[in-house]
Amino acid sequence: MFQGTRIVYVLRPMTQINENYQKLQAGYLFPEIGRRVAAFQSAHPEADLIKLGIGDITLPLAPAIVDALHAAVDEMGHEAHGYGPENGYAFLTDMIRAHDFEKRGVSIAADEIFVSDGSKQDSGNIQEIFGTGCSLCVTDPTYPVYVDTNVMAGRTGEADAEGRYDGIVYLPANAENNFMPGPPEERVDLIYLCSPNNPTGAVASRENLQQWVDWAQNHGSVILFDAAYDAFIQDPTLPHSIYEIEGARECAIEMRSFSKRAGFTGTRCAYMVIPHEAMGRTASGEKVSLNALWNRRHATKFNSVPYMIQKAAAAVFSPEGAEQTAAQVAYYMENAGRIREGLGSAGFEVFGGEHAPYIWMATPDKLTSWDFFDQLLDRANVVGTPGSGFGPSGEGFFRISAFNSHENVDTAIDRIKKAFGR
Ligand SMILES: *Cc1c(COP(=O)(O)O)cnc(C)c1O
Repeated sequence: MFQGTRIVYVLRPMTQINENYQKLQAGYLFPEIGRRVAAFQSAHPEADLIKLGIGDITLPLAPAIVDALHAAVDEMGHEAHGYGPENGYAFLTDMIRAHDFEKRGVSIAADEIFVSDGSKQDSGNIQEIFGTGCSLCVTDPTYPVYVDTNVMAGRTGEADAEGRYDGIVYLPANAENNFMPGPPEERVDLIYLCSPNNPTGAVASRENLQQWVDWAQNHGSVILFDAAYDAFIQDPTLPHSIYEIEGARECAIEMRSFSKRAGFTGTRCAYMVIPHEAMGRTASGEKVSLNALWNRRHATKFNSVPYMIQKAAAAVFSPEGAEQTAAQVAYYMENAGRIREGLGSAGFEVFGGEHAPYIWMATPDKLTSWDFFDQLLDRANVVGTPGSGFGPSGEGFFRISAFNSHENVDTAIDRIKKAFGR
């Protein structure tokens, strides 16, 4: 009882921490990248680094959004705008319903929308309304937030040497399944899907999503669908929302963000959709509305997105805002095309980048993801993201982001080709 470090406890009482945090893999991906880049820069202060790493926007806010922000600030100087409605102002949710859903033949009620300050937090927080014993499944590689927030909540055991947590079903995404795996054999309570995908840049077909929805319906599972990149879809026949799929209202929650579609990563606005038909159950088997549960959670722990930010988000749907933000997305997609083409025609194996701002490349010469990261930094002065940081199946891959200027992208492609003798 009084052995080892516990002696400290006896001498001086301390509050116990949530030990699930101790299971998290050391160093979140981006801090480790930052550490290596900083070390390189201090050793080579003259190097002109091109960063195609973290998925953050590089263009300034569109003029229509800036105008809406200014106007809203002036308004707030003339009249009080205090706590907003918990689910979001109707001027924004009406726009969302009309433009993001009705245009695609989907009907979403105002009280099925929950405006928030980001999909990162939504995708991390949503697990709170589910039992701690719920099983979960992710496609691998994956956005790390889905995994880490469930580790923190205690839904997993320890991670193995490759970073695979006990208690999570990992579905390998690879070239054979177009980086969009179908459902597993076993039943799982929660499934995280992201399309267009970060990090692979792949996009789900209607058939793939229908397979998932049918499976979720048959197994009484819940799909958590992250559509942060839907604006980057180029083929008009591809689904933008999971609710375009028959049966999804009964089994799917959707998360959407203004971050990538409209450059809101520093402005912060997103929303979650929970249809009234989506249900969970109590231990005794009673049905409970997920919408009602989240409404309770949201109203208790969140006090609405600032008025001027919601005004800015509404401006994304104005004719000017829609046109200007579409031009920004097109600018990034031009980069994605150049990277895909440039590296592909030089003999690198590249995936994604057609409906997403990410190119997923196989590392040359069978290098590990981190070895390629170091070599690219050292020989080409280009920063990307090691695929293994997104999950065990990302090993041997590398994510290149299209968020940068055309000039930098062209220079980076040239440097990568030269550095690897292509
Ligand atoms: C960038 C991103 C988001 C958006 O997060 P915000 O908190 O809204 O900025 C959500 N999901 C994925 C997979 C992302 O890459």
